[in-house]
Amino acid sequence: MNLLNDAWIPVRPLDGGGSVKITLQELLCTNQRWQLCLPRDDMELAALQLLISIVQVSWIPEDDAALRRFLNQPLSEADFKAGIAQWGDMFRLDHPEYPCLQVKGVAAKDVTGLDKLMAGLTGATNCTFVNEPGQGDFLCGGCAAIALFNQANNAPSFGGGFKSGLRGGSPVTTLIQAVDQQRADLRTTIWLNVLTRPRLHTLFGDDLLLQQKPTWQQPIKEKSSISAATIGLLRGLFWQPDHIELTAPVGAGQCSGCGQQVDVRYNGFLKAKFSFDVDGTWSHPHSPRLLQNKKGEIEQKFLAFTTSAPSWTQLSRVLVKLGGAKGEGQIPASVVSQSQQVFPTAATHLIVGGYRNNQASILERRHEVMALHQGWQTHDDVIPRLVEIGMGYKSALWESLKIFAQGKKNSDVKGAGVKAHEKAERDFFRQSEPVVMTLLANLDFNDPVPQFDQLRVHLQQLCVQLFEQATGPYSHHPKLARTMAIARRSLQKHLSDLKPQQGDYHAA
Ligand SMILES: [Zn+2]
Repeated sequence: MNLLNDAWIPVRPLDGGGSVKITLQELLCTNQRWQLCLPRDDMELAALQLLISIVQVSWIPEDDAALRRFLNQPLSEADFKAGIAQWGDMFRLDHPEYPCLQVKGVAAKDVTGLDKLMAGLTGATNCTFVNEPGQGDFLCGGCAAIALFNQANNAPSFGGGFKSGLRGGSPVTTLIQAVDQQRADLRTTIWLNVLTRPRLHTLFGDDLLLQQKPTWQQPIKEKSSISAATIGLLRGLFWQPDHIELTAPVGAGQCSGCGQQVDVRYNGFLKAKFSFDVDGTWSHPHSPRLLQNKKGEIEQKFLAFTTSAPSWTQLSRVLVKLGGAKGEGQIPASVVSQSQQVFPTAATHLIVGGYRNNQASILERRHEVMALHQGWQTHDDVIPRLVEIGMGYKSALWESLKIFAQGKKNSDVKGAGVKAHEKAERDFFRQSEPVVMTLLANLDFNDPVPQFDQLRVHLQQLCVQLFEQATGPYSHHPKLARTMAIARRSLQKHLSDLKPQQGDYHAA
């Protein structure tokens, strides 16, 4: 199975119709509009990243005008052939010596089931509740490639002795999705996330783009210490940190990933521990990075979901570049910055995806598409302001209900002894999320104040309602009457502080 020639891409026509598998050429060289079609959103995101990575290394747009041409017209057959010819059989999953995204000759006593390669299917205590059973029993070549790529790039490692990808165990991935009704298709989405050569040059230098072979052709040396800055574009995009090898395929049947009938299926893989170190942070184009000053040293890491708070709470970090005096700051994904520069007046659909993990266990799978009204590109103070407003109301509710729950230390104000603040926070996020998302899609970035004021009114009502919901059942407890009164005063004080001061936004 060769990713460059064979029909492995799971899609369905945008205009309606059943799911099929197409080749890269059918995807890139025709005007037919497709969308990815897999049962799991994380696997769709991995498939999209895999496709973007193949296109990124095969057809690098020389400048913004070239990128626009790629967006507007399908590739010619000649350009397609020239693009893939440079790779030979590099992307062959069943290559006898250099199997794509694997390592040949993994020494393992036992065969591991492919469910282990489908992130989150095993390991977490809740995994059987959120996943259909049997998803990883038999995978077609395409689904196996997508699962290998996802495990190598997006998911926590298998645990002790196994390595995570270049972005750590659970990076947030941010990509641009096509918006226009006429062009909201997979081909357009892919090109929107392909960086032009000058931008690649800034990230990697020209010598490091395509010259290095991928890990399966030139394996990582055991116990080596590798500087992230020496890893080139191609090698980094397809980085496989683990010693993994699919076992010999079994016969025809249904793929439990995409559901298609196929001739060749895989049902297991070999894995072996393998150690090495990567120093520094690789400039992965698909992820936002954070810079922290730790005792004078600037430490860079990829953004990760560390709590169950919704993605909009992270939106400043995803969209706005910031640098502080002490070197701390945040850098949006290069593909998001490119879109900001090349399409400064376009509405944007932002894909945000990733896992929240506890070491090798996946606690939560996150995948969202956020619509952003045009204007975010040139008003980079507006999104942080929006996040600040939302989080301000969340904190008001949390702080006041924490008093209700826990009382006040070193006083005779006793708490109710229930985690009312934690439940209310979850309810606040769940109920405010659609409001914030709708606002983002319609926000007038030139003059956001009126809509921000409406948001404040809405969130204030929500806080009061959730406070009453949390405390209501205790209103007949005489011992809690004083605690409740203090908590309510605290809420009112916080809410009053959050009311807009005259002109505070413009002054800020
Ligand atoms: Zn499949």
